[in-house]
Amino acid sequence: MGPPGVGKGTQSKRLAEVFGFPHVSSGDLLREHLRIRTRIGCEAKDFMERGALVPDSLIGSIVIDRIASASCKTGFILDGFPRTCQQADALHSYLSELSADKTKTVCVSAVHLFVDHALLFRRLASRRVCPTCYSVYNINDRPPRVKGLCDLDSTALVTREDDRNEIVIWERIKLYEEQTLPILNYYSEKRILAEVNANYPADEVTPAILAAVRRCPQM
Ligand code: AMP
Repeated sequence: MGPPGVGKGTQSKRLAEVFGFPHVSSGDLLREHLRIRTRIGCEAKDFMERGALVPDSLIGSIVIDRIASASCKTGFILDGFPRTCQQADALHSYLSELSADKTKTVCVSAVHLFVDHALLFRRLASRRVCPTCYSVYNINDRPPRVKGLCDLDSTALVTREDDRNEIVIWERIKLYEEQTLPILNYYSEKRILAEVNANYPADEVTPAILAAVRRCPQM
């Protein structure tokens, strides 16, 4: 968890590679619905453009269905979910169901990435994404090999609509602080919260996350 622009997407993809688990990003799942114009995509569009949170009823089932799928059987890296107490409850219920099966061991770590506000704006202004595979680049720190093109599929990179407008960015930060920060207490009380300072380049943050997760007792 962390505010927009903290590097959740970049770090989640790296953790997914390290652990060999799928990367499950609620934002990417929604953007895929938008791209292929499903009913969910149409309903989510206006919220996403305003920087508002998509209703729990819409996002909860998409994410839980995804992590309950066969590809997530041995594990998954969640990115951008949960963002509200209701989402945390839905995730908790799902994980409790898994733990009830005594043939399984369920290990959970929550990672909180924190950063200075000024840096968030700089990172969002220089963030570019691939609209095909959702890879994330930063034109200053992590540029693509060929300017403007995705390393993986050569699609032209774009700036996300919700990264263009300063008012929308502030709205996303405000919602994060109001709705998502309180959830951290829940994970902190369970002693499964890894706090990581993300004011550093991505290459330094990844080993810090891995070390913090390994220090963290597991649920
Ligand atoms: P992200 O890619 O995580 O920054 O998400 C982009 C946008 O998708 C957010 O600003 C929200 O509008 C929506 N979104 C993503 N994840 C969630 C979530 N867990 N709950 C509600 N809305 C979400």
